[in-house]
Amino acid sequence: VLCMVCLLFLIIATFTGHLLAGRAIIPIKNSFTRQREFVADASHELRTPLSVMLTSVEAIRTDDENTLSSFSEQVLEDMRSEIKRMTKIVSDLLTLARADAGAEILIKEKFDISDIAEKVIRSFQPVAVEKGVKLDFVGINDLFIHADKEKITQLLLILIDNALKYVKQDGKVVLFIKQSSGSKGTVNIIVQDNGVGIPEEQQQFIFERFYRIDKARSRVAGGTGLGLSIAKWIVEAHRGTINVESAVGKGSTFTVSLPN
Ligand code: ADP
Repeated sequence: VLCMVCLLFLIIATFTGHLLAGRAIIPIKNSFTRQREFVADASHELRTPLSVMLTSVEAIRTDDENTLSSFSEQVLEDMRSEIKRMTKIVSDLLTLARADAGAEILIKEKFDISDIAEKVIRSFQPVAVEKGVKLDFVGINDLFIHADKEKITQLLLILIDNALKYVKQDGKVVLFIKQSSGSKGTVNIIVQDNGVGIPEEQQQFIFERFYRIDKARSRVAGGTGLGLSIAKWIVEAHRGTINVESAVGKGSTFTVSLPN
């Protein structure tokens, strides 16, 4: 009888323990949800005033009736670039907040990834030329994948933009798109640069939000520290993987594997 009482006591204790633990978690979950909603709402609300500010600054800069001193022109130019940077941060934050809340859904369709890759490379050519960097695309035609076209384009934009930001003059950036030799149906997106590289001990952190190896350099290059977090989210939402191999002074290679 004593054993039975002990067993019963144990079962009740375990059960109420689970219940209590469950109850204790509910307020924490609610607070996370509220925090995510707050970030999403705040980012959304900030977009309109920022766009009004940008338009106003542009209007003053381009108004022929204004004779601005070179100092005022410089101030306006600085304001314009800071507003643009803030708009980028706000938009990246909104993407991540929506992703956290499960509100950022994939709209999948069948499309030719080589076609998208070529367009992205073309759009970056002026930046590459200005920086004195060779930018190439190596891929096969008609490689159709079933994925979210807009998000995959965003992924390519992030990786190429980074490669161009951290490559030196006379450097080289190559985007490879290929069908994986290992598992059939897997598509590999590889972005290779011979730029500054990433120290080994920091490579595990670069996909974290707001992580920047050299804050000053990233800021000058127009970085927000959110690009790779978004890239990782896009890849994982497609059930793929993203990895980096890098050596300081030699360059970096980002490899994305997407199941098709
Ligand atoms: P950022 O907007 O600052 O570029 P990311 O999240 O895209 O932020 O990248 C995080 C950090 O990883 C960058 O600040 C940079 O230090 C490093 N990084 C990313 N891509 C490269 C690259 N191709 N070469 C060297 N460093 C890179």
